[in-house]
Amino acid sequence: MERLQKVLAQSGIASRRKSEELISAGHVKVNGKKVTEMGIKVSASDKIEVNGVPITQEDYVYYLFYKPRGVISAVSDDKGREVVTDYLVGVRERIYPVGRLDYDTSGLLLLTNDGDFANKLTHPKHEVNKTYVAKVMGVPFPKDLKPLTQGVKIDGRKTAPAAFKILSTDNIKQTAIVELVIHEGRNHQVKKMLEAVGFPVTKLKRELYGNLTLDGLKPGQYRSLSRREVNAIL
Ligand code: URA
Repeated sequence: MERLQKVLAQSGIASRRKSEELISAGHVKVNGKKVTEMGIKVSASDKIEVNGVPITQEDYVYYLFYKPRGVISAVSDDKGREVVTDYLVGVRERIYPVGRLDYDTSGLLLLTNDGDFANKLTHPKHEVNKTYVAKVMGVPFPKDLKPLTQGVKIDGRKTAPAAFKILSTDNIKQTAIVELVIHEGRNHQVKKMLEAVGFPVTKLKRELYGNLTLDGLKPGQYRSLSRREVNAIL
């Protein structure tokens, strides 16, 4: 059972707010009866009409996508560049990404049509760990990256403590591969954090989202999440 305004918003009729307005203005009927109070719950078998037009209720779907570099984390782009949903070709539901990966970042991206799921996961208090692997310029010692474990200031605000590992270093090329685990989702966060300690990122990939991995997928491929995987991450 879901709240009527959520089902309306979910069906693509209008935003949640607009759906509430449609309800209170008397435009919505459930099983032939006009409903004007907010918050009534409906199930998939209820017949919902807006101005006499029945709406179709979409089932919730959840996908794990291996985003390649050079693809936008959006459902459309006004410059005509490739967007993530171009790759989820078999999906009929109107899905969108949960948070974003930068254009030049590859890795694990979740997509869904469940707005509550997306909001929960992107809310700062929902502390799901995201594991990134970055190639950086310079060869750090652990002490150089230690400030990341306390938090560093980016955009005038301190980040939450993060965990890091130096996976490899190349003294000739003066580069290193660093793993960073964060649970916030600020704009360009990993790049800014590593830049803040003096090691600019030249390549970035998200390897893990909570316990979810990219195992079995190549860049551009996706799979659906099981109910159990969805519940485990919430
Ligand atoms: N941090 C970044 O800097 N970029 C991303 O795409 C994700 C996290």
